Amino acid sequence: MTTVAVAVLGRGLVDPDTPILRADDLGVMRGDGVFESLHVRQAKPWLLDEHLARMARSAARMDLPLPGEGALRELAYTAAGAADPTVEHALRLVCTRGVDGTGVATCFATVATIAPASITPRSAGISVRTITLGFAAGGRTDHPWLLGGVKSLSYAVNMASQRWALAQGVDDVLWISSDGYVLEAPTSTVVWLMGDRLWTVPAEQTGILPGTTARHLLDHAADLGYAAGEAMITPDGLASAGGVWLLSSVRGIAELRSIDGVSRPASPQTPRLRQFLGY
Ligand code: PLP
Repeated sequence: MTTVAVAVLGRGLVDPDTPILRADDLGVMRGDGVFESLHVRQAKPWLLDEHLARMARSAARMDLPLPGEGALRELAYTAAGAADPTVEHALRLVCTRGVDGTGVATCFATVATIAPASITPRSAGISVRTITLGFAAGGRTDHPWLLGGVKSLSYAVNMASQRWALAQGVDDVLWISSDGYVLEAPTSTVVWLMGDRLWTVPAEQTGILPGTTARHLLDHAADLGYAAGEAMITPDGLASAGGVWLLSSVRGIAELRSIDGVSRPASPQTPRLRQFLGY
């Protein structure tokens, strides 16, 4: 991914090579901050309202004071507006807790090209291994310090999970709860088709991140002739699904063609889901 634009709150666009963080910013020192990754289409951030709402919710759960929504919206539009409108991009909207003691968030947005590793799986599909996340499915819900449902800057575990996947020769992992339920992937939401219904994992009940892309698809499921629902499922339960996909703003939609070494036939539904979502 090549960064093509950077915008800083209160400063507007800056040269992407400009250093914009102090060494003692808590975002760097502690991973203490929130972020959102959005899809940029025709130089505009897609589903911006939904991402801003999730960012506000993440920040509230971390007691992190954010600038007003209008300022963040303008920041996102400023950065996205600098992108080539004929090419899709990824926008990252970041707010750290700022420099210790100041109480002022550091906010900036970056726009980057999307790597082929995110684009190719939309047509080719991906392979995954299931690995434990170490919590029971309901293990985070009554423990707010575990930051369930929060998109914080502390993504080292997510990245380590994906490095582990590559080291095992697969494309990604599915995180499984210690009591055996499918949760999510390190950067995407799981959606599956059972009968005529598209399903995903309930976020509030499990502490997974509520995905904006999966929500958009399930909220419009009726337009595609499906019902929609939320349910807990085990990896074995996915075996009889008519399709299993990972969804995220940057990846779009990628079908799981192999889970723990067991191949799955290509779902005939994948092309229309991709078309509906615009990926
Ligand atoms: N789950 C996790 C842990 C993620 O990091 C992401 C991506 O940001 C998602 C799910 C998918 O969310 P969205 O569709 O909003 O990109």
